[in-house]
Amino acid sequence: MAFTCGMPSISVQVRLLLVIAISTCFLITELAVGFKTHSLALIADAFHYTGDLLSFVIAYLAQKVQQLSSHISSLSSYASSSPLSSYSAS
Ligand SMILES: [Zn+2]
Repeated sequence: MAFTCGMPSISVQVRLLLVIAISTCFLITELAVGFKTHSLALIADAFHYTGDLLSFVIAYLAQKVQQLSSHISSLSSYASSSPLSSYSAS
């Protein structure tokens, strides 16, 4: 399902991938600048950001699992449908 909000329709998975890509760039930049300038604040924030990035990855994987499980359940309901159950469902 896509949330539009007046913007072009982009799926949740594509949005999560964009967030993961941008966050990865931000994390690498923060780590590089933090170690280059010996800024403990930047390094600490980069490690904090690692947790955020991990949560985005988990959200993306949850979306994939949900998509896969709904696909499998639709396949299994199609395969296990008997004439009686299809009659009672209609
Ligand atoms: Zn955070």
